Amino acid sequence: MTTERTDVLVVGGGPVGLFLAALLAARGVDVRVWERRSGPPTGSRAIGIHPPSLDAFAAIELDTRVLAEATLVRTGVARSRGRTLGTLTFDRASDTHPYVATLDQHRTEELLRDRLEQADPGALRTGTTLTALTRHRDHVDAVGTGPDGGSVALRAAFLVGADGARSVVRDLLGIGTSGRDYPDRYVMGDFADPEDPAARTAALVDVGPDGVVESFPLPRGRRRYVALVPDDGFSGSAAAGGTAPDPARARRLAGIVSDRTGVAPDPTTCSMLSGFRVRRRAADRVGVGRVVLVGDAAHEISPIGGQGMNLGWLDAADLAPLLVGAVRTGVAGPWPAYAERRQAAARRAARQAEANMALGRPLDPVRTAGREALLRTVLSLPTAHGLARLYAMRWA
Ligand SMILES: Cc1cc2nc3c(=O)[nH]c(=O)nc-3n(C[C@H](O)[C@H](O)[C@H](O)COP(=O)(O)OP(=O)(O)OC[C@H]3O[C@@H](n4cnc5c(N)ncnc54)[C@H](O)[C@@H]3O)c2cc1C
Repeated sequence: MTTERTDVLVVGGGPVGLFLAALLAARGVDVRVWERRSGPPTGSRAIGIHPPSLDAFAAIELDTRVLAEATLVRTGVARSRGRTLGTLTFDRASDTHPYVATLDQHRTEELLRDRLEQADPGALRTGTTLTALTRHRDHVDAVGTGPDGGSVALRAAFLVGADGARSVVRDLLGIGTSGRDYPDRYVMGDFADPEDPAARTAALVDVGPDGVVESFPLPRGRRRYVALVPDDGFSGSAAAGGTAPDPARARRLAGIVSDRTGVAPDPTTCSMLSGFRVRRRAADRVGVGRVVLVGDAAHEISPIGGQGMNLGWLDAADLAPLLVGAVRTGVAGPWPAYAERRQAAARRAARQAEANMALGRPLDPVRTAGREALLRTVLSLPTAHGLARLYAMRWA
């Protein structure tokens, strides 16, 4: 077993770990990323890329690469039973990017991998899993399993846990989490976009009596539908289906969308179908000595509202200069202030996601009519652009 040395070891080459590593490499920090998966990125979980993330991407010229492939969402339309209640536009949500960009998560990760490879060839080690770490006063020793099954070891001045919601780094540090599980179950699927061409740059949120259907335009003429589904096994089974959509389940989701919104996606065009449950978690601590957590390892929020990955990228943008300074001085960074800022941002995003979920739950006809009236009023007020800023994460 050989022991390499590096300034920063990032454990987890998901979207957040890759972005942090690319930022560090661009600033001349020697960085390694250990990523458990051995193949190329797959799956299409997160699609929304918000204006503050695009601003942060500019530091490594990733904004232009993302925008060259992304679809731009310029409005959000609230509907109920297919009828429009009001429209929000993102034109005042940002001076630089007055829209939300959408791109499949695996493609965003590929672009991040390319960017890291350009800045520091060979920094990403795929098929490499962290299994143990030992903290010392002036370094951290990491041990893992490499692509050939043998042991690998690395001595890093700092270690970052970007290893997702079930973080091994967090567990190895003995850091607990607090949070809650929600009862809601959702199914999402990507279809050829069946919406009217005028709605092709709009996010649509239908809050009818049977539960929400949200949809977002995607590159290559597709649309992502996300529906709250009854607790009858549909979502759990669909999740097991992974990326090869089961035709019967694609028909079922298309039927739900059609029944609730009046627009029928063609189930034969379904290219992805997956179900998910929702939970919220926050790590009890974010930094211990020379080890720091970012992204879902530090905070997990409901995907409804589409802000989790963006929160993680903004963690990375906040943490990168602190790590650059810590590597230069050799002194562990001001993690408490970083933790305070980023966990506060996560709490805010989690509250917003909770409000989104509450707005989309099934209601009886009387209360549905009340919800419709409320949304019509709120969306017609001159202050409605403030809501667009909330959804575009201008507060983050
Ligand atoms: C259905 C769904 C839809 C979503 N939609 C959106 C959206 O539209 N917008 C948004 O902002 N967010 C969205 N999210 C949330 C988003 O997907 C996550 O917040 C984001 O992926 C977190 O990124 P991460 O890099 O912190 O963690 P992850 O993406 O989980 O990446 C962690 C990486 O660490 C690796 N790893 C784990 N353990 C080890 C180990 N021991 N050694 C080495 N590597 C390890 C894993 O293989 C993985 O690649 C969605 C989530 C879901 C489930």
